[in-house]
Amino acid sequence: MASRFDGQLRWLHKVRLYPTCAQERALVAMLRATRELYNALLMQRRDAWTTRRVSVPSRDQYAQLTELREAEPRFACVYRECEDAVLHRLDLGFAAFFRRLKRGETPGYPRFKRAARWNQLEFSHGNRALKFDTLQGRVRIPGAGAVRLRKGRTVPEFGRAFLVTKNGRWYAVFEAHRAPSPLPTTGCRVGIDRGIRVLAALSDGTTIENLRSGSRRRAVVERHQRSLDTATRKDAAGHVLNRRDPVRVAASRRLSRAKEREANARRDWLHKASGEIVGRYDRIALEALNLRGMARSTRGTTEKPGTNVAQKAGLNRSILDAGFGMLASLIREKAAYAARMVIEVNARYTSQTCAACGRVCKESRKGPRFVCVRCGHAADADVNAAQVILLRAESPPKRAPGTARGRQHGAA
Ligand SMILES: [Zn+2]
Repeated sequence: MASRFDGQLRWLHKVRLYPTCAQERALVAMLRATRELYNALLMQRRDAWTTRRVSVPSRDQYAQLTELREAEPRFACVYRECEDAVLHRLDLGFAAFFRRLKRGETPGYPRFKRAARWNQLEFSHGNRALKFDTLQGRVRIPGAGAVRLRKGRTVPEFGRAFLVTKNGRWYAVFEAHRAPSPLPTTGCRVGIDRGIRVLAALSDGTTIENLRSGSRRRAVVERHQRSLDTATRKDAAGHVLNRRDPVRVAASRRLSRAKEREANARRDWLHKASGEIVGRYDRIALEALNLRGMARSTRGTTEKPGTNVAQKAGLNRSILDAGFGMLASLIREKAAYAARMVIEVNARYTSQTCAACGRVCKESRKGPRFVCVRCGHAADADVNAAQVILLRAESPPKRAPGTARGRQHGAA
């Protein structure tokens, strides 16, 4: 089936909304109704199965939804498509559940949603439901009226749309599409590996730091964490006693906002770094996605710098890994848009492999430095690993890099 978006890439536009108090109440009521609906649909399916061993088809629930809307005004005042999207979301949840069951895994049954975990309304044909005024200063939301938008970039023609709330703020997310726009070729190529002490290392010798981990923003987060701890009273078992205490709620919200700002700053930083990489190189070699878990388990256990690494280093490691994962996915996204080539390679043992002679040996790693035990090639350990990634992309190894695995594990 040909779509009008063939060959185009998904492009999300997130715009802050400024609802009035009445509009916000309407939006919150819509969230509550859709969440209630989701839980009711789920309960119907679960009970039908546990008591009578029958499954409730989606189309039956769709028909019942029509009846429910006639009977219950609080469901009728929600835009019908949002409720259909809830049913669809439940279908997707069950499809994933059965798929994993079939594969012999032990999946979790779809769960009932708490209010804290239910924060978006989906409009599958958002362009039909949400209408801008001429200057895109307001967007008309069915059931909530014309809500003021943040001024800024113009939202292009869009399809699906979401209304999302986070930390007490509302956003509209519009899903648009755009055709790739290839960047001029540079004739340069690069290998990128997750670093041990830095976020990522490039084969050209440069490294990408994690955004100033000891920064002012971090200090703000820690300060808000302390005031939340001060405002929290717990019983002996560690349960919070004053969860709804206004002072505690306010402190908790301030902490969430500070964390959000920190995450935004980090994301901006990664956007910038990934944009520069995609601009500079035609061919970008990265560790393959499907091997990530495997690569991490070997590298995380046997390749940490030093032998007695404290728990704290483990936490720092996982923060760096999360950052690298985001950097890599931004690179993939931007590369697809710019028609750059991303080559996926097996990243196992890159930090123990010599970029000059190819010898794999644990002893070549000397903390932050790499000194090959065979040929004496010396380099920054992270940069050496990135060069190995590039080499593997250009000429896949004849011998699988994992053949020395048993010995490597024995040595660790
Ligand atoms: Zn060597």
